[in-house]
Amino acid sequence: MSCLESLPPLREVIARHELAARKSLGQNFLLDLNLTGRIARSAGPLGEGTIIEIGPGPGGLTRALLGAGAAHVIAVEKDHRCLKALEEIQAVSDGRLEVLAGDALEIPTSELGRPPRRIVANLPYNVATPLLISWLRAIARESGSLDRLILMFQKEVAQRITASPHSKPYGRLAVLAQWLCEAESLFDIAPTAFTPPPKVTSSLVRLIPRSHPLSPCPVEALEKVTAAAFGQRRKMLRQSLKSVFAKPTDILQELDLAETARAEELAIEDFCALARRFAEN
Ligand code: SAM
Repeated sequence: MSCLESLPPLREVIARHELAARKSLGQNFLLDLNLTGRIARSAGPLGEGTIIEIGPGPGGLTRALLGAGAAHVIAVEKDHRCLKALEEIQAVSDGRLEVLAGDALEIPTSELGRPPRRIVANLPYNVATPLLISWLRAIARESGSLDRLILMFQKEVAQRITASPHSKPYGRLAVLAQWLCEAESLFDIAPTAFTPPPKVTSSLVRLIPRSHPLSPCPVEALEKVTAAAFGQRRKMLRQSLKSVFAKPTDILQELDLAETARAEELAIEDFCALARRFAEN
């Protein structure tokens, strides 16, 4: 602990390594130690397995995770300018920090280190959704691959992840995420907490994989069916499902679903039933 505390303030690190934030890399840094500490604590006990951090940047959250007692942090960073700053943290981490230089979209991040694996990240907003979808697919393939995800998103994306049926943000992301995980928004963070401030409010989301998906079905089929239904969300299902079923009306009747309903009226289990039927074709 005392060694971590001897590290220079983050503003100094950013200035010394010339880490001017780049929009193309979704860089909005968190320099407030209270906040990074609160995010690290939201991940629960960190003493077991592997904490995977995506986009450590200058290392504010990384320091907080190590300070909160993380046994092993693997941090994946695409911006090579940040690596020197991260090396300084590594040097005082007692071997608990490993840094991987690379693109998290190209690395099988859900397989890094030993389980239980938790992903904790202030995500780069430009790739946050594809990253989440890749982790959800990994959970669908192997339920034990990830133990917990604590992720910062734009509030609008957080609402799409945690949305309930009959609401505007309810869509493909809510169905896929909640089919596999219990999803909860923990707290909001104002733009002023970041350097530079993003245009919108952010929210920290906790996803805890269920021991079994809400209802069994192949993930590919669920993605196909939800893409069709929500791709034309204003249309009735008998119309929007025409791209996945030759006779959607028959299938909807067979499953006891109203053919005049719209996608946002269906529960996750209803989409699973449609996905099973699609997979039979
Ligand atoms: N964790 C730091 C913090 O909280 O201050 C930085 C968070 S910043 C929102 C996002 C970080 O992700 C940046 O450091 C950026 O360089 C990095 N990043 C962007 N795209 C990435 C990618 N595809 N793979 C890995 N890291 C990426």
